Amino acid sequence: MKIVAAKKLLRANQKFAVENRTNFNAAGVFTVNVVGSPGAGKTTLLEAIFGQLDDRLAPAVIEGDIAGSIDAQRIEQLDVPVVQINTEGACHLDATMVAAAVEGLKLELLDLLVIENVGNLVCTAGFDLGEQLRVVVLSVSEGDDKIVKYPAIFKGSDALIITKSDLSAHTNFNADRVTTDMKRLAPDAPVFQVAALQGEGIPAVAQWLINKCKAAGPSAPGSAGGSNPRGMNLSPGKAGG
Ligand code: MG
Ligand code: ZN
Repeated sequence: MKIVAAKKLLRANQKFAVENRTNFNAAGVFTVNVVGSPGAGKTTLLEAIFGQLDDRLAPAVIEGDIAGSIDAQRIEQLDVPVVQINTEGACHLDATMVAAAVEGLKLELLDLLVIENVGNLVCTAGFDLGEQLRVVVLSVSEGDDKIVKYPAIFKGSDALIITKSDLSAHTNFNADRVTTDMKRLAPDAPVFQVAALQGEGIPAVAQWLINKCKAAGPSAPGSAGGSNPRGMNLSPGKAGG
């Protein structure tokens, strides 16, 4: 019998994550890993944000799903470059999958790369993809106890976005409780509340993202489509299997 320790797998993942991050930095791309349960509203949130970027950033998306390309098709309709990863059962993305997906993108033309992870509040917490920022999405219909029950994913995130806030009157979701719980685990992470289908709260999230991109380095927002001195597009090397 062969037993592979999870720690070993995570170490291997970390090596690829570091490589991804190096590639993203070299290309001047700011990368965000979006995590949350299935149905939390991750894709709808992205649609709303992209609708308000007004060419201030050139985005692209990597969609992680167990099967199908429904979300990627939605992103494609916005004329945002998108690559679909089908994990064929795996319940999270890992850094090798992202390295393979990146080969389908022209990194040097991008300012912002959003990786929508597989819907999952558990093991997505353990896999660094090489992102600069992780954002966790929680909808009001999931309940306000999730931070206490799934602390790892919230503790490791750089922002919490509470979605479907327009539905909260129909639930017993307590946003104050959630905010307090989040501040305890991740004191520096801002907490946003949005109703993405109505566009409520989206400008604040979009502006926060733009500011984060700006602060990250030389990739000047607004450079989309213009001449780009960042000609480097390092090959991520072998993508693994
Ligand atoms: Mg989705
Ligand atoms: Zn998993």
